[in-house]
Amino acid sequence: MYKVMAVNAGSSSMKFKLYEMPEEKAITSGICERIGHDDGIFTIKGLDGKKHTQILPIKDHSVAVKLIIDGMLNEHIISSLDEIKGIGHRVVQGGPYFSDSAIFTPDVEAKIESLIPLAPLHNRPHLIGYHAFKEALPNVGQIAVFDTAFHQTMEEADYLFPIKHEYYEKYKCRRYGAHGTSHKYLSEVAIHKYLHDKKDSRIITLHIGSGASLTAIKDGKSILTSMGLTPLGGIMMGTRTGDLDPSVLNYLVTQTGRTCEDLYNEFNKQSGLLAVSEISNDTRDIEAGYHKGDKNAILAVTMWSRKLAQFIASYACRLGHVDLIVWSAGIGENAPFYRTKVIEECSEFLGLKLDENLNKEIVLGKEGIISSKDSSIPMVVIPTDEEIMICRDTVRLLKL
Ligand code: ADP
Repeated sequence: MYKVMAVNAGSSSMKFKLYEMPEEKAITSGICERIGHDDGIFTIKGLDGKKHTQILPIKDHSVAVKLIIDGMLNEHIISSLDEIKGIGHRVVQGGPYFSDSAIFTPDVEAKIESLIPLAPLHNRPHLIGYHAFKEALPNVGQIAVFDTAFHQTMEEADYLFPIKHEYYEKYKCRRYGAHGTSHKYLSEVAIHKYLHDKKDSRIITLHIGSGASLTAIKDGKSILTSMGLTPLGGIMMGTRTGDLDPSVLNYLVTQTGRTCEDLYNEFNKQSGLLAVSEISNDTRDIEAGYHKGDKNAILAVTMWSRKLAQFIASYACRLGHVDLIVWSAGIGENAPFYRTKVIEECSEFLGLKLDENLNKEIVLGKEGIISSKDSSIPMVVIPTDEEIMICRDTVRLLKL
C-alpha cells in the first residue's frame, strides 16, 4: 500500500488529491487558492471528511506545496513523507509531442515550456508546480498527464484547420482539443460497463461544465473533439465564445479600436453564457432566470442547447452510428433541465429520448442511464474522475 497524488497547478491555485494505491481509495483532497496574496486560502479535507480552511499569506507555489505537505502530516493523513511514492501533474497542453503521459525529464520539461505560447495561463504554472514539488520531495517520481494526449489519435483531416500548411509546419497551429483525461476516463467506463467491451464501439462523450467539450470516440480512440487550438473553441461555454466566425475578431478590432489581445481575453473570460444572459456564467443562475421569463436567460439557454445539439448531430454523422451518449462534468452530471433542453433540440432528427424520472434522479454524483427504452441511442450519466486517471498513469509509468 502506498500513496500517489494528483496535482493541478494553476497560476494562483493548486488543487491536490491523494489516493491510496493500488486500491484507488481517495484519502484527502484540497486546494490552495489566491497564491501570491496575503489572504491566501488553504483548504484540506481531514480524515473525518470535514474541510479545514485557513486564511494566510501564500507567497508562491513553494509555500503552497509546504502547506499541503504539512497539512497532510498535521491531519495525520500521512505519518511520513516516504509514504508518497509518486505525483502526477495535470498539464493542459502537450502539443503534438505527447500521445501519452510522460515522466518528467529535462526534455519533457523543455517541450512543455516550448508550448507556453499555446497555453500561457496553464503550462507555465504547471511547471512552477512541478518544480515546487521537486524541491520539497526530491526523491519522488513525478509525471505529466496531458489534457491533449487522448486526442492525438485524430486524423489530419480532423485536426488541421483550412489554412496554409506552413502554419502547422512552422507554428504547430492545429486542433489539439482538451479535457482528454476526462473523455478517456468516460470512454473506458462507458465501453466496459455499458457496452460490455464491444468491438468497434462508437460513443459521444459530453464533458460539459463551465468549460465544455464533446468528443467522438471510435473503438476507444478520440477521432474528433470540439475544442480547437485552445479551449476557446467548440460549443458556447460559461465565459467562452466557442467557435466564432474568425472575421468577428477583425471586425471588432477595427470598429471598437480595442486591441486583438483585449478582445481575445474578453472572448475567453466574459463571453458565452455570461455575455448573452447578462446574469451569470453559472447555469444554475441562468436556469432561475429562464423560469422567471428573463428574455436574455431564455436566449442564452436556447443558443447554448442548439449549439450542443448541432455538435452531437455532426458527431453522429462523423461516427456513422452511435452506441452511447455519455453526459458528464458540472452541467452534464447535475442539470436535468439543460439535458432536456439539448435533447429537445435534436430529438426530431436523432430520435433521442430522455426518461423524465431517471433524468431527474441521476444528479449529484450518481451514475446511470437517463434515456427511455425507446430512445434511438442510449444515454448515460457518468461522473468524471480525472484525478484517478492521473494516479493510474503515475503508477503505470513509475512502475510502482
Ligand atoms: P469546471 O471544472 O470547468 O470549472 P465543472 O465541471 O465543475 O466546471 O462545472 C461547474 C459548472 O457546472 C457550474 O459553473 C455550473 O454552471 C454547472 N452546474 C453545477 N451544478 C449545476 C446544477 N445543479 N444545475 C445546473 N448547472 C450546474
